[in-house]
Amino acid sequence: MARYTGASCRQCRRENLKLFLKGDRCYSDRCSFERRAYAPGQHGQMRFRKVSDYAVQLREKQKVKRIYGMLEGQFRRYFVMAESAKGVTGENLLIFLERRLDNTLFRLGFANSRNQARQIVRHNHILINGKKVNIPSFLVSVGDVITLKEKSKKNQAINDSLDAVARRGIPSWLDFDRDNLQGNVKGMPERHEITMPIQEQLIVELYSK
Ligand code: SF4
Repeated sequence: MARYTGASCRQCRRENLKLFLKGDRCYSDRCSFERRAYAPGQHGQMRFRKVSDYAVQLREKQKVKRIYGMLEGQFRRYFVMAESAKGVTGENLLIFLERRLDNTLFRLGFANSRNQARQIVRHNHILINGKKVNIPSFLVSVGDVITLKEKSKKNQAINDSLDAVARRGIPSWLDFDRDNLQGNVKGMPERHEITMPIQEQLIVELYSK
């Protein structure tokens, strides 16, 4: 699947927000945003810029795409799914994104970033309900049990990530059994648990033009 291959930290600086795309580094003083909290490029430090409503909506969409590591086509497909589901479109969109397997692994602590979680999935480390799943966009459902393949349980990178998850916390729709390295999907994600500053209605407005 196509994916963004440019510099991750540049994306945080563009969105003027820490997007936590690089795992441990994001929590350290090596974070580029901490050192240069202005947009990249020649005009990045211009102070007074008039921004149109369209630009604000566009930035919001780009921000969410970047948080979840999506490209435009795929993100748009989630929006179409969100529109046709019952409920509030913007919230539906975020809930679909949260239910992705790569995000779920990140939330459970199997990975320090969604990018790392995608690698773990693609490298065949993950079982859902006992069956191998290597598709990062797989949507988890209530009752799903997420485990590691037996030989992956000793993977150092995964174990290091599990030790570091305490600083983020695990959302209440998930449950994690550290002894058995097993995650359970207890319910659907809830909007109030997505703590990044996202105004999803701006994305709905953008796509509804
Ligand atoms: Fe963003 Fe993390 Fe890079 Fe900091 S280290 S700029 S939070 S990706």
